[in-house]
Amino acid sequence: MARLGLRRARSDALLRRAHAAIPGGVNSPVRAFDAVGGSPFFVAEGRGAHLVDVDGNRYVDLVQSWGALLFGHGDDGVVAAVREAAARGTSFGAPTEAEVELAELVCALVPGAERVRLVSSGTEAVMTAVRLARAVTRRDRIVKMAGCYHGHSDALLVQAGSGVATLGIPGSPGVTGGAVADTVVVPYNDLDAAAAALEDGVAAVVVEPVAANMGLVLPSEDYLAGLRALTARHGALLVFDEVITGFRVAPGGAQQRYGVTADLVTLGKVLGGGLPIGAIAGRAEVMDRLAPAGPVYQAGTLAGNPLATAAGIVTLRRVRDEPGLYERLESASRRLAAAFVDAAERAGVALTAAAVGGLAGVFISDRQVTDYSEAAATDGRAYARLFAAMLERGVYLPPSRFEAMFLTTAHTDEVIDMVAEAARDAFETLR
Ligand SMILES: *Cc1c(COP(=O)(O)O)cnc(C)c1O
Repeated sequence: MARLGLRRARSDALLRRAHAAIPGGVNSPVRAFDAVGGSPFFVAEGRGAHLVDVDGNRYVDLVQSWGALLFGHGDDGVVAAVREAAARGTSFGAPTEAEVELAELVCALVPGAERVRLVSSGTEAVMTAVRLARAVTRRDRIVKMAGCYHGHSDALLVQAGSGVATLGIPGSPGVTGGAVADTVVVPYNDLDAAAAALEDGVAAVVVEPVAANMGLVLPSEDYLAGLRALTARHGALLVFDEVITGFRVAPGGAQQRYGVTADLVTLGKVLGGGLPIGAIAGRAEVMDRLAPAGPVYQAGTLAGNPLATAAGIVTLRRVRDEPGLYERLESASRRLAAAFVDAAERAGVALTAAAVGGLAGVFISDRQVTDYSEAAATDGRAYARLFAAMLERGVYLPPSRFEAMFLTTAHTDEVIDMVAEAARDAFETLR
């Protein structure tokens, strides 16, 4: 696809090299831009709200490492903490004070968190939460919602959002029938379906409290409280996968924002300030079933890595201490959503938008989207054209309509105004 004004020679050359060494040329599928056409740019550096690619093109970045960054690229505090930590050694595989401090910060911020186990990715966090729930309840079945993404572990790779939705595959070859036999999938925002699924012996309901891997889909009024009541009644654990929403929609995540406390919470992304991390948190009585306190095995060579914990501590201290942080993030995401709505209206394009905390999302659709089937029914081709038109105008949108947009403190009013102008222009091309 032609990209007016974008230089591409170096990215294209790198992509050719990458294809010869890496499957599909990328280390995570959505990076390949398959859903929006064209080919990816290779990043040279990031600063605040902006990315610069290897050809010197500069973009406002609305992806922000898929939400791992809350203060934009290359935040001075995070970079300094990582640099200091690295000078003292990059991995020990032995306890450090930083792990304790990060765990204490999580306990102080996240409702219901009495114990925290650090892992190296969100995938591991959810995997462990499921194992723990099965061990505690002595039941096998789990319930997940269509279009929610919980990482790439076998049991959760059914009707998943994010890259799985982008590639349009129901699951994945290599995942055995046995691995998913105990996974029941129900629609998001559908309490009746969840209630029916809970009828016979379920270990856990695993859900993104705000669904941000099928585009951005907000929970309906009583949904989260309803899941809380249903799981309690049936003796199942409620697992909130807050890998995206944790520290992004409120200091205490969606639990705090919506006033519902789960039994287990999984964290990642923001928790590591841009370095690889994940965590499981919950009540002592449940969490202390993990080895070596209890019999449920879980381990990691790089778990609690000193660089990741250093970045995480700086990030969470700011989450705890910075006045008005979440008001600023939400004001940016609301302004962004409003800018897209306005641009679409002017061009006569049907668009629906949502925003919460530092998250925003748009669907090219004349109806509000409440679950995955509705998300999948929105106009993917129009989204691909919008993506290309915005990229040409210096704005990097998520390269799939099944991904949310991420705001940071670096997305100032001036930056959003620039995106708004680009959007007004870009939507004209969609008329
Ligand atoms: C990103 C994500 C994961 C997986 O985290 P990784 O660090 O990519 O393994 C799990 N759950 C949700 C909700 C996510 O957005």
